[in-house]
Amino acid sequence: MIRLLDIQKTYDNGTKALKGVSMRIDDGEFAFLVGPSGSGKSTIIKLITGEVHPSGGRIMVNGYNLNSIRPGQIPYMRRTLGVIFQDFRLIDKKTVWENLTFAMRAVGASPREIRKRIPYVLDLVGLSRKEDRYPTQLSGGEQQRVAIARALVNNPQMIIADEPTGNLDPQRSLEIMMLLEKINELGTTMLVVTHEKELVNRFSKRVIAIEGGRIISDETGGYYNNEE
Ligand code: ADP
Ligand code: ADP
Repeated sequence: MIRLLDIQKTYDNGTKALKGVSMRIDDGEFAFLVGPSGSGKSTIIKLITGEVHPSGGRIMVNGYNLNSIRPGQIPYMRRTLGVIFQDFRLIDKKTVWENLTFAMRAVGASPREIRKRIPYVLDLVGLSRKEDRYPTQLSGGEQQRVAIARALVNNPQMIIADEPTGNLDPQRSLEIMMLLEKINELGTTMLVVTHEKELVNRFSKRVIAIEGGRIISDETGGYYNNEE
């Protein structure tokens, strides 16, 4: 569960990125976080992952109180999250299998766990036959599927997807969003940041809209009506 209570964030140069944001995302939910460029979406993501610290307010992430977390605990908090980016961020010199192995070894998984888990997640994302490919031998949509598999491989409570379809064509974008929906239905909480209106409106999900560092609407089965 994610809980933000009256979160303020002022960057060192004086920019007030968040001006009192409160939100709660319960286990198992699927939420879109939408808003124009510069509205504060990335700042919220970075607060949740612990890359940025709040200037005011309280924040809880999957049982960790980020206001008082000790630095040594941050890696454990991060293991409760799987993060997906617009630019995939795969290791180009490693195959699909090796990218996933690398992520699992980083958290101390045994070879036996690795051999069991990777085929499961590759099957889930529809890439079972591409495990020996290098990222550059895959299409953009396939690379994003690998990134999703990597985010899932350590079984996080929640996935945060930051503009996951920003580099994909509309058909591939829809397929990726349907995959995220399927993963959510299997129990992983999903927070998807996007500014792609048409895509959001194809899914009847919770839509949290932010503008100028404030939440301007938060509706279940909502639409993204912002005119950019
Ligand atoms: P979004 O992800 O919605 O585009 P951001 O959270 O990146 O919005 O940015 C919100 C505001 O904070 C913007 O005005 C942006 O310029 C500013 N901002 C973001 N990161 C920094 C930073 N590291 N230093 C100063 N200002 C920043
Ligand atoms: P190492 O670098 O120690 O040889 P690898 O990362 O290559 O380990 O592989 C770890 C385990 O996963 C090994 O048992 C290996 O046989 C198995 N493995 C590696 N690649 C594949 C693959 N494409 N399909 C099935 N098993 C694989």
